[in-house]
Amino acid sequence: MSESDFEVIVVGAGLAGSVAAYELAKLGKSVLVVERGNFAGAKNMTGGRIYVHSLRNVFTDEELAEAPFERKIVHERISLMAPDANFTIDFSSGEMSKPEQASYSVLHATFDAWLAEKAEEAGAEMIYGIPVEGLLKDETGKVCGVRAGEDEITADIVILADGANSLLAKEAVGYEKPPASQMAVSVKEVFDLPAGTITDRILANSDDEGAAWLFAGDATHGTFGGGFMYTNKESISLGVVAGIEACANGGVPVYQMLEDLKNHPAVAPLIRGAKVMEHSGHMVPEGGLNIMPQLVNDGVMLAGDSAMMCINLGYMVRGMDYAVAAGQMAGRHAAVALEVGDTSKAALQGYVEDLENSFVMKDFRQYQGEPAFLENFDRMFSGYPEMVRDIMNEMFVVDGSPVTPLKKKVMPHVKKVGIMNIARDVRGAMKAL
Ligand SMILES: Cc1cc2nc3c(=O)[nH]c(=O)nc-3n(C[C@H](O)[C@H](O)[C@H](O)COP(=O)(O)OP(=O)(O)OC[C@H]3O[C@@H](n4cnc5c(N)ncnc54)[C@H](O)[C@@H]3O)c2cc1C
Repeated sequence: MSESDFEVIVVGAGLAGSVAAYELAKLGKSVLVVERGNFAGAKNMTGGRIYVHSLRNVFTDEELAEAPFERKIVHERISLMAPDANFTIDFSSGEMSKPEQASYSVLHATFDAWLAEKAEEAGAEMIYGIPVEGLLKDETGKVCGVRAGEDEITADIVILADGANSLLAKEAVGYEKPPASQMAVSVKEVFDLPAGTITDRILANSDDEGAAWLFAGDATHGTFGGGFMYTNKESISLGVVAGIEACANGGVPVYQMLEDLKNHPAVAPLIRGAKVMEHSGHMVPEGGLNIMPQLVNDGVMLAGDSAMMCINLGYMVRGMDYAVAAGQMAGRHAAVALEVGDTSKAALQGYVEDLENSFVMKDFRQYQGEPAFLENFDRMFSGYPEMVRDIMNEMFVVDGSPVTPLKKKVMPHVKKVGIMNIARDVRGAMKAL
């Protein structure tokens, strides 16, 4: 029988933390979740849309039917945005709607609260409004609890699920902060609108259906990053993600990018008449495998964004399904280690192996070259949007002048960017994505 206050302490009640706690509590382990926000979801931020597949491994269909999903995403939109123009691809398909492949827009405030409630119902204890400031270690250096305010709380295992800006990862596994070039900063506003208005504005069939929309180009004034929009039931989440290094090197401030995106002719009609309900800012890990810390050490495990498990492919941002899967695996492996009475780094290695064999690490390995590719893909943010605008203008603007062959209209704009550059970018994208 453990002499610690709890068998496991989880730091952070985001997706990774609450799922880990839920798994542990279901397996009969005593688990405490310490969350710095006054409620789960108070302090974190997402775009966002969650792919449901990893939740389906944690919860039954009946439980998921009660989850506070906002809208099922049935429209994927990608825009190349120039200051005075916008070119959008709108994709929808039956495949996207299949239960095992579906994705939903979510708001952290409601979704994280639901997940935390599930963990609590299963038997986890939750403390809110207190940040964990440090880790306790025994004489061998093994993590054996946390320091939160005046309190020292002991545990056999600590799971760090404290998000992208973990203050504890260094103490836990010696992780130094990633370079600015591997992190992005984001600001987002949530706009209140009647459900029917949103449905009409995005051309959905019902108030349960919605769109995920990413904008490249003028959304970040041509620098590395992009804009995003997700439709919720009665609100729209609109934001901008931009590389921290690009912002620090004298670019347009990220809050100004969002102001300008809101006023862009392609976006302004979507939020016309809407009231801002919420404004938030957050960091986004973008370096993938290259900035991933060691995932376990004696008495400690890392899951979700605290382990940098987030991918930005330019046309898709993913972190939530990885956080859920990693949280589940962390919880299960912590329980196994407790059963055998060995919570050393070696005993927790099964968690790392499970991750390696799952879609989580397979994806990160697959996309290992993607951050470097995107970082040097300047033409995506400034070059291609203008090229596409100019070609579209050639095709659709009629002023009564005699028509010229399409090739003659298009080639000067293609040549401006450079045929070799386009070929190089296509080859690079094929390799990295
Ligand atoms: C702008 C933006 C858009 C995104 N869009 C998407 C998207 O569309 N789809 C997608 O899948 N992913 C998206 N992501 C990524 C996704 O949101 C994250 O990968 C995911 O939320 C990570 O979950 P987590 O539980 O690991 O961390 P978080 O959700 O960040 O939770 C961490 C928790 O730990 C708490 N905490 C932190 N430090 C302490 C401490 N010291 N003591 C106690 N508590 C602490 C925080 O308050 C928070 O509740 C986006 C992220 C951003 C920022």
